[in-house]
Amino acid sequence: TEACLSEIGAASALNAFTTVTAERAIDMADAADRARASGEGGDLLGIPIGVKDLFCTEGVRSQAASRILDGFVPPYESTVTAKLWASGAVMLGKLNMDEFAMGSSTESSVYGPCVSPWRRTGDETPIVPGGSSGGSAAAVAARLCLGATATDTGGSIRQPAAFCGVTGIKPTYGRCSRWGIVAYASSLDQAGPIARDVRDVAILLRHMAGHDPKDSTSAAIDVPDFEAALTGDLRGKRIGIPAEYAEGLGEETAALWRKGAEMLRDAGAEIVDISLPHTKYALPAYYIIAPAEASSNLARYDGVRYGHRAPLDQGDGVTEMYEKTRAEGFGPEVRRRVMVGTYVLSAGYYDAYYLRAQKVRTLIRRDFETAFGAVDAILTPVSPGPAFGIGEVTGDPVQMYLQDVFSITLNLAGLPGVAVPAGISANGLPLGLQIVGKPWGEAELLNAAYALE
Ligand code: GLN
Repeated sequence: TEACLSEIGAASALNAFTTVTAERAIDMADAADRARASGEGGDLLGIPIGVKDLFCTEGVRSQAASRILDGFVPPYESTVTAKLWASGAVMLGKLNMDEFAMGSSTESSVYGPCVSPWRRTGDETPIVPGGSSGGSAAAVAARLCLGATATDTGGSIRQPAAFCGVTGIKPTYGRCSRWGIVAYASSLDQAGPIARDVRDVAILLRHMAGHDPKDSTSAAIDVPDFEAALTGDLRGKRIGIPAEYAEGLGEETAALWRKGAEMLRDAGAEIVDISLPHTKYALPAYYIIAPAEASSNLARYDGVRYGHRAPLDQGDGVTEMYEKTRAEGFGPEVRRRVMVGTYVLSAGYYDAYYLRAQKVRTLIRRDFETAFGAVDAILTPVSPGPAFGIGEVTGDPVQMYLQDVFSITLNLAGLPGVAVPAGISANGLPLGLQIVGKPWGEAELLNAAYALE
C-alpha cells in the first residue's frame, strides 16, 4: 500500500487517480496486517486497489467524473466495493473515467483527461488510455495499484485494458451487483475488474461477484472459484472465429487475431469459422438503446438532490434552475446522449427507433445463441487498432463510437468477455484480443484467456 501511494504521487501527471484516500488506505492496510497476524488469510487481504469514480464509496467523493455531481459524497458504499473491503482489500482512491462512463478515451472527464503510461515509438504525444475506465487501466498499467474496479456498458472495461496492455473482464450481465454504481444504461451496465493478468482478474472477480437482493437484475447463481479453472488446457474445446468481425479490419489487427487463434490451437482447441450475421447493426442499436436509458437515468440530476446547482437570476423559476444546472453540469457528450435518448423515446419515434433497436438486440443475442451451439468461446479483436493520441479523435463522435464496434455486441447480448494483451503494434502500443464466453461461463472463458497469455 505504501509503495502504491508513493507511485501514485510520482505518477500524478497521468491523472489516473482523481481522489487519493491515503489515510484510509494506511488504516485498512494496518487492519489487514493485524488480521494476518491473528491468523486470518484470504487472497485479497491487504491488496491495494483503485476504484472507478462511477462506484459510490461511503464518505469519499464520487462524481462519475461529472461537474453535475460536484462534491457529491455518498452516504453509502456500492455492493461491489463493499464486498472487496470485506475480503480485506485496501482502497487507494478513485480513478478517472469518461463523464458518466460515456466515451472511449477518458478525455471527457471533469478532472481532465487521463494519460496512458504508454508512448508511440519515437513520439512523445500523450496517448489516451481508452475509456471509459481509462483511469483503471492506466493505473494498473503504471503499477499504481494491483487491480481496479471498472464498468462496461459498451466496451469500457475491455477497450481500455487492451489500450494499456492489461487484462479486464466484463462478466455476464447480472454477475455483479449494480447497486451503488452510478447508472448509465441499466440494461447494459456491468461491473468487473481490470488487473495485470488473467489470474488477478479471476481472483478479483470472485470477490466482486454474487447475488445482491438490492439489485433485482443480479443473478442468484453460484460464484465459482475462477482461479481454480486456470489450467491453460483447451483440449476438446471449440473456438469460433466470426467472419463479420474481419470486415474492414487492418492487417495489423488481422495478423494479431490469426496469432491468437494459433495460440489457442496450440493449447488444444479446435478453431471453427462461425457467422454472427447481425453484427453490423450492433453499433446503431447500441447508440439508440444506451442513450435512451441514459436520458432516463440522468433525469435525476436536476440541481435539487445532488451536487452542482447553477446560480440563478432574479425571477428564475424551477424550470430555469433545471435548465441552467443541466446545461452547466453536463459536458457536451453527455448532453448529446441525453438529447438523442430523449428523441428516440419520444412519442411518434419510439416505434421507429427504440423498439426497432430492441428487436435488433434480440437478433444479435440469437446470433450468439446459435454460435454457442457449435463453439465454446469466440475469439475477436478488442478494438480496430491501438490507442490514439489525446485530442486526435475528440472532435469526431462517430469515430469514437467505432472504437467499440467489437465489444458492444456482448453488452447487447449480456455475455461475458475478456480482453487480454496479445501484442505490440508497429508504433509501439499494446494490442488486445477478446474472448467471448457463454452466459455464466466466466470460469471457462478465463481459462481460454489464460491460454493466450
Ligand atoms: N464507448 C461506449 C460509450 O461511450 C462505452 C461506454 C461504456 O462501456 N461505459 O457508450
